[in-house]
Amino acid sequence: MPESLELSHYHVVSPRFVDERAQAARRVVFATRTAEVRVLDDNLWQQIGAGRISEIDSTIVEDLAGIKLLVAAGENELASIVNQNNAAIDRNPVLSLVVCPTAACQLGCPYCGQEHTNRWLAEHHQTAFLAIAENKLRAGSYRAVQLCWFGAEPLLGMKVIRAFTPRIRRLAEQYGCKYTSRIITNGLALTSDRATELVKEYSVSNIDLTLDGVAALHNERRSMKNGRPTFDRIFQNLVALASRDDLDVEIKLRTNVDASNWQAVSPLIRMLADAGVQHRIGYYVAPIHSWGNDADKASLPREEFASHEIEWFAEMMLNGFDVGLIPPRKPIVCLAVQHDGMLVDASGGLFNCTEAPYVPTHQDDSLQTGDVTEGENRSARQKLGDFNTHVAAGKYPCSTCRMLPVCGGACPKGWLEGWRPCPSALDNMPDRLLLAYVSSIRSEPAAMAS
Ligand code: SF4
Ligand code: SF4
Repeated sequence: MPESLELSHYHVVSPRFVDERAQAARRVVFATRTAEVRVLDDNLWQQIGAGRISEIDSTIVEDLAGIKLLVAAGENELASIVNQNNAAIDRNPVLSLVVCPTAACQLGCPYCGQEHTNRWLAEHHQTAFLAIAENKLRAGSYRAVQLCWFGAEPLLGMKVIRAFTPRIRRLAEQYGCKYTSRIITNGLALTSDRATELVKEYSVSNIDLTLDGVAALHNERRSMKNGRPTFDRIFQNLVALASRDDLDVEIKLRTNVDASNWQAVSPLIRMLADAGVQHRIGYYVAPIHSWGNDADKASLPREEFASHEIEWFAEMMLNGFDVGLIPPRKPIVCLAVQHDGMLVDASGGLFNCTEAPYVPTHQDDSLQTGDVTEGENRSARQKLGDFNTHVAAGKYPCSTCRMLPVCGGACPKGWLEGWRPCPSALDNMPDRLLLAYVSSIRSEPAAMAS
């Protein structure tokens, strides 16, 4: 144990509260460098804050140093975190591939920045993409290939999914890698037969879909391009999928929220609970942000979103949902910073960011990193890929942010474009800690005690 310890910069603490059972004032403390949580007596917290570490019981000190709430005095913590993140990127055993089988989508969501066209990933582009992936597998020491089917709407590209999956699966196997896949879909074409096919024949183990609230508000936002409503079909597809015991699949449902539909979240939570799917799905709400457009102008102010989110979390807990209150350590922020991760769009364009393809405003700003027929331009990758270097150099507010270890910086593209991509946890972490504590004493009395 180093002689001189001090409170890490990387922590978040709840307000003081009185624990009736212990008859003591306490606080919940989150050590973001390890994503560990402890419940501490307020007196102990005051001692730590005043730097009187030597007066604290050695077992407690050892525990708090173990979770890096206490660190060696003078440590350059930012450098330690960025070094750890870079090491995780270097050692990443997973080759992440994102494939957009088509540029088409049935929906016309007003906040979407993409321009949709009737185009599908051609067979020769599939072959060329596989050749690039093979080079990466040969040169790296990967143990897994994770493929994400992305859009536009990937279920409109089933012919590509059917043709490409056996080929990429074989390639993964050839290099001793486990193959898994996930699909991000609007859910409209996710019939029972389609879900069976995806999971049983095409190794899809995760399905993410979206409902922007209950029928009226959802249909105002996520209707078809011809104006037809979509809520009923997507909701039915979701409930049918979540009710299946024969499919081994993780389901996530997302609601995109701005000032015009946030009131629809609570009714949707109740509707999902009434349908009995709360134990079968992960549900989360995400604020609308700029997608190369001005969709963010309709967003709720960040603090307002964060405050509503705490109410939604509480409602979800009361309705039996599993709620992710405490973010885990996030050493690899996204595809953009990975050495080899890549996305191919339906024209064969290569990217290291999921929000760049089909966005007209990005067509001239070279977020494209290459083309399947010509290969990748490594230096073009660095436009987003150098993010951690910029953070280490103090370029963004992430350099001084206590949430960096569990946030990673959220979205390199956001910072590059000059908007703040900070997650809600930046604003509501103290309340999340209190909720997590309440949840822990409801389920397991000693779960969070130090
Ligand atoms: S994106 Fe925001 S919350 Fe995340 S590390 Fe950067 S400043 Fe902090
Ligand atoms: S840079 Fe942002 S938008 Fe692009 S992949 Fe990363 S998180 Fe997503």
